Amino acid sequence: MIYDCAIIGGGPAGLNAALVLGRARRTVALCDNNRPRNRVTHASHGFITQDGVTPSEFRRKAYADVLKYPSVQHYAVPVTEIIKEQGTFTVVVEGSEPIRARKVLLAVGLDETLPDLPGVGDVYGTSVFHCPYCDGWELRDQALIAIGDHPRIFHIAKLLFGWSRDVVICTNGTQVLDDEQKRQLSAKGIRVTEQRVAALHSEQGKLTEVEWTDGTRLARSGGFVMPQWTPHTVRFASLGFDTNEWGGIKTNELGESSVPGLFAAGEAATGMGAQLITAAASGSMAAMGVNTALMEEAFQE
Ligand SMILES: Cc1cc2nc3c(=O)[nH]c(=O)nc-3n(C[C@H](O)[C@H](O)[C@H](O)COP(=O)(O)OP(=O)(O)OC[C@H]3O[C@@H](n4cnc5c(N)ncnc54)[C@H](O)[C@@H]3O)c2cc1C
Repeated sequence: MIYDCAIIGGGPAGLNAALVLGRARRTVALCDNNRPRNRVTHASHGFITQDGVTPSEFRRKAYADVLKYPSVQHYAVPVTEIIKEQGTFTVVVEGSEPIRARKVLLAVGLDETLPDLPGVGDVYGTSVFHCPYCDGWELRDQALIAIGDHPRIFHIAKLLFGWSRDVVICTNGTQVLDDEQKRQLSAKGIRVTEQRVAALHSEQGKLTEVEWTDGTRLARSGGFVMPQWTPHTVRFASLGFDTNEWGGIKTNELGESSVPGLFAAGEAATGMGAQLITAAASGSMAAMGVNTALMEEAFQE
């Protein structure tokens, strides 16, 4: 059998794409190895009707929606390779026969690496996050710290001013803020330290103190860090798609990449952290792109 579309990745992007294609009566192989980026967090916010849902409940509901459509087949396996030959794709999966498809939609998201801060793994997803829009409300008016050795920390510092007036910015041993930026932050009561972090101390996932390498400590109850992101698409780079400055797959408005028949959605396409709702929306658009391409081909036969 040749599926109309193989969707690789079952996060909000891939699941919404599967929903749209299933409803369009397309045969879909939805391959997912269940390692979504937000698996460490306790609740997801900012998705209308789903505000505060746990990531596992979000996925349970999404799979229930998608698998109502009989033309969608779920493969709970990692995809290891994708080969394009004469207009069709072969999707190699672990522990099963290869899957053949006319179109492929990559919705594999990002691999996230936390900064090298001792103790960060104990608090990330509980009291320390990376996105104020996702978790700023829960940390509102608290004693916050934002740690980052990248110039973008300036943007995060200004953003956090909307959620708390007790914010410390730590550039962790680097000098990424210039004097004018420090002046602007100081004018708003945002303190800046260039000290290096020795450890984040916590109790049951709740940040309690930040310790610097000189042994001094500061009480903080929440914060933000800047992870590094690498799109999971790098393992499929031999397909030859163009990428944007963050490594995301460049697409047109309907999600098609520079490789005909290969589509991308969600964080696989942005190459940087986004949100559940934007990932789902781009999955929906890409599904319409896939369906349109299949429809046009049918009318040319
Ligand atoms: C701590 C934290 C908190 C967050 N909080 C929020 C929040 O409150 N609100 C919000 O909107 N967003 C939040 N996000 C961001 C949100 O998780 C992402 O924006 C969203 O998950 C991106 O969707 P996606 O479909 O592109 O990728 P993902 O959800 O990461 O899904 C990608 C899927 O592809 C699968 N996959 C990858 N490679 C393969 C392969 N080779 N074979 C098979 N399957 C594969 C993965 O297992 C995964 O299931 C948070 C993120 C983190 C880390």
